[in-house]
This record gives sequence, C-alpha cells and structure tokens, in this order.
Amino acid sequence: LHSDHCGLISKFAKSGCKILAGETEGEMINFESGNLYWRMLDDLFIKFGFPEAQFGRNTDIHPGRKYCNTEKVNFTYVDEGDVLEYGGYHFQPILTPGHTPGHMCLYDAEKKVLFCGDHILGTITPNICIELGVENPLEDYLNSLKKIDALDVDLVLTSHGTMIQDVHGRIQELFQHHEARLEEVKNILTNEWKTSYMVAQDMTWEIMCKDWESFPAPQKWFATGEAISHLQYLYLSGIILREERNGIYYYKK
Ligand SMILES: [Zn+2]
Repeated sequence: LHSDHCGLISKFAKSGCKILAGETEGEMINFESGNLYWRMLDDLFIKFGFPEAQFGRNTDIHPGRKYCNTEKVNFTYVDEGDVLEYGGYHFQPILTPGHTPGHMCLYDAEKKVLFCGDHILGTITPNICIELGVENPLEDYLNSLKKIDALDVDLVLTSHGTMIQDVHGRIQELFQHHEARLEEVKNILTNEWKTSYMVAQDMTWEIMCKDWESFPAPQKWFATGEAISHLQYLYLSGIILREERNGIYYYKK
C-alpha cells in the first residue's frame, strides 16, 4: 500500500508486466489511487486528534501522497497456499498484516529464504500505523510476527537496509520494543483525557529535532499513527479508557 513499494506499479503494468498482490492489499492500492482514500484517512486522523490546521503542509509534503500510485491496476491476486516459481525458487505468499492491512511476505521453505517487505527490518522498527478499516494494527502486527517466528528461516531480505540472519532474535527485539512502547504510552496517560496527538508529543523519538514543534509535518503524522496503534492496543485490551467527544477520541488511564 505504501508508495515506496507500489508507487511505480501502473508504469510496470502499462509496459506489459503482470502485477501480483494479495487481494486485501491490491484492493486498497486501487482505492488509494483515487482522492477519496486520502480524504478518508485525513478524517480518520482528525478523529484521533491530529489537528486539521496541520493538514495543508502534511498534504503537500507527505511522501506517501506525493509518490502515490494514481492509476488503477489490474492485479493478479495471490493467496496463501499458492506457489510462485521464479529462477529455481518456490515462493509461498504469507499474509502478515500489521505494517499494512494486506502485507505479504514471500517464503521459500526449501532454501529457507524470506522476502519480508516491511514486516521485519534490521536497523529500524517498521512503522505500525492506523489504516482505514483497521481497529487494532499493533495486535495484527504482533500476531504476524509470531507467524514468521514459527518458520525455519536462514536469511531475511528486507525492503529497507540490511539483510537479517538471526530472524528469531530480531523478532524478540521487536516484541520487546513494542512492550516498552506500550509501557511508555501507559505512563504518559494520566487521569486527564488525551488525544493520540497529545500522547505522540510526549513519546520519545529518534529524530534530529529539538522539540515536537520542529518535527516536519509528515513526521508528526507518522508519530501520531504510532501513538494511535499503541493506544488502540491498550484500549482494546481493556487496560485504558477511550471516550469520543465532539467526534474526537480521547484516552485516559
Ligand atoms: Zn511501508
């Protein structure tokens, strides 16, 4: 769904390439090519407390929008159980929702190789963000990590940065990261109602900015998305409370 993975697919499709995707992701990519997707995503972020005033700049410079695929593509859908044969490899698609709602990895069981897209990354943690039609993206993501943890894998080829050899070790680090993040978010909440945007401001971020106000607008968006996924996980686990006031969600302990 993200532009850094599918921004060029309509160009490939026009030159006669067959474009494969899981159905959930393919349908969303085609929906994203129209204007309604971004309007609905803006509304969703407003509902989670992102200030409307930030949208002008966010819309202009958000890389997801800027490089988004803008034409519908006639996908060939693949699903779990299919086998894709290329160059002596036999890849099974594995559905791993979390980073995006229909995210898929490709696994060759014989060669123990996994192309994992953005599901597992070596040096950074994949962004887990709210999406249209998704209530609890972090729970989806953690379940998808467990799914990969059960596989016999020697080499993971990621979509950003380094390859990973110790995938099970990296999965444990990702579990610990989200546990620590959930704890941090819980500690930021008090007995006062706060929006996801307010919580995002108080979370720690590895970014070269002196304070929240100097974050570029798209980074505020990504940070708020991360805050939402952790708050939703805590709320849907019954650990914190959520209330809707004037169309905006607020959370408290
Ligand atoms: Zn991505």
